[in-house]
Amino acid sequence: MTIETSLIELFASVQGEGPLVGCAQVFVRFARCNLACRYCDTPVQPVPLARVERTPGRRDFFSVANPVTAAEASRLVRAFGLEFCHSVVLTGGEPLLQEGFLREFLPLVGGSRHGVYLETNGTLPDALAGVLDLVTFIAADVKLPLTSGTGPLWEEHRRFLSLAGKKTLFVKAVIGGRTGQDEVDRLVDLVAEVCPNAVLVLQPVTPVGGVPPVDPAAALAFQRRALARLGDVRLIPQTHHVMGQL
Ligand code: SF4
Repeated sequence: MTIETSLIELFASVQGEGPLVGCAQVFVRFARCNLACRYCDTPVQPVPLARVERTPGRRDFFSVANPVTAAEASRLVRAFGLEFCHSVVLTGGEPLLQEGFLREFLPLVGGSRHGVYLETNGTLPDALAGVLDLVTFIAADVKLPLTSGTGPLWEEHRRFLSLAGKKTLFVKAVIGGRTGQDEVDRLVDLVAEVCPNAVLVLQPVTPVGGVPPVDPAAALAFQRRALARLGDVRLIPQTHHVMGQL
């Protein structure tokens, strides 16, 4: 049986977050999410028409009717020219809600230089297990409860990171004006225990919808304290907004 999914958009750009910032990538944004973070700036509701960029950076989109098959989505991705592409990014929304689709789709999008880069909220370990063999990089969020407003998800994150650590893993936590030292300490404990070789990225929140920004001194203090336990802790804001990219 062919599995279809709803896409929001496909475009080519550069990675705007984390240790691979600046790498050329093709992005596949899936509809739907299992969380509702207070700082979310991404459309996640399914739409009748997905938009596909014709020219990287120009935002000259054409429309494709949803839902799409894996074959159709892979044809659209390959049309960007994957030979110059670091990796194909699965983003959302939450891509792991589409586990069945991904198992059909990912074997069809070979040809990038380094494979598949999964951006995920890090809460669906069973779905990750189903696609783990098909991804190269995992950028997994850990949701700090006071910052995200999602409620505690520590056990889900623990199970997820235990598995994700088998791949090249970046752990990201958004920090803002509400972030508490206790929740950052708990994050650091989790990474130190479960995936100590992962890069930990503290990402200052991009203030949207009245979300308070993090105080720079507090951000540096979070990083410094985390570095007492972990080998690689970086403070990296979202950079794609600087060049007006998606
Ligand atoms: S997990 Fe990501 S896409 Fe989902 S609500 Fe939170 S910020 Fe938005």
